[in-house]
Amino acid sequence: MQDIEAIADVAHKAGIPLIVDNTMATPALCQPIKHGADIVVYSATKFLGGHGNSIGGLIVDAGSFDWAASDKFPALSTPNASYHGKIFTESFGNLAFILACRTLGMRDIGPAMAPFNAFQILTGMETLILRMDRHCANAVQVATWLSGHPAISWVSYAGLRTSPYHELAQKYMTGRGGSVFTFGLKGGYDAGVKLVSAVKLFSHLANIGDTRSLIIHPRSTTHRQLGESEAVEAGAGPDVVRLSIGIEHIEDIIADLDQALASLE
Ligand SMILES: *Cc1c(COP(=O)(O)O)cnc(C)c1O
Repeated sequence: MQDIEAIADVAHKAGIPLIVDNTMATPALCQPIKHGADIVVYSATKFLGGHGNSIGGLIVDAGSFDWAASDKFPALSTPNASYHGKIFTESFGNLAFILACRTLGMRDIGPAMAPFNAFQILTGMETLILRMDRHCANAVQVATWLSGHPAISWVSYAGLRTSPYHELAQKYMTGRGGSVFTFGLKGGYDAGVKLVSAVKLFSHLANIGDTRSLIIHPRSTTHRQLGESEAVEAGAGPDVVRLSIGIEHIEDIIADLDQALASLE
């Protein structure tokens, strides 16, 4: 969790826009433009769609950034040869960036969503608020329960009052911490590998933001290529397990973690 207003100040003093990836918080918890962000990006694959069934993304431009105020953005403020010499900042003002995304980015790279995926993501977004309430309520209960478990050395979740990020969560995230967080196993690497294969309700997946609870041990999967110290710096040390808490019944979620942790003994 970041202090968005403080970072926006630094960015704007340096003449650069603040771009926030709000995938984890979603607009249900955090609206970065209200805090000074110029552009907000999302992986719609996660909570927005919410069901782990479609890949997509969003770029939201507040129209608040003046791309012509410096010579830092020549692709927008000088003639574009691939677009008949158009100067995007002259034609479109503060909308230069987002229109360049469409007219240049989409044209050159082609990231156009299939209609069925758009349908699934739009349908998912209708229940975003309801799902986030349940995701967060479940996650805070799981994090609290894990904090008291003897096999666990630490829990990093901004939704807990004991978290150093809780104050920022109050300011920016309605006091809630979302549903993705990490914890440390006293048993280290081997315990992490074993836990992931012992769960039954949780799915072993690198995705997040699904209605179903997901678990991964990053050190043996997504972050296995890193060196030891790099992995620790990336928050993926050998003892780290990441959860994305779903919207199942809280008792089922905790019962599954309980039996899986018991199997480590
Ligand atoms: C997954 C993720 C992405 C990438 O999104 P895809 O939809 O998988 O391409 C970007 N930012 C965050 C924070 C993510 O979790």
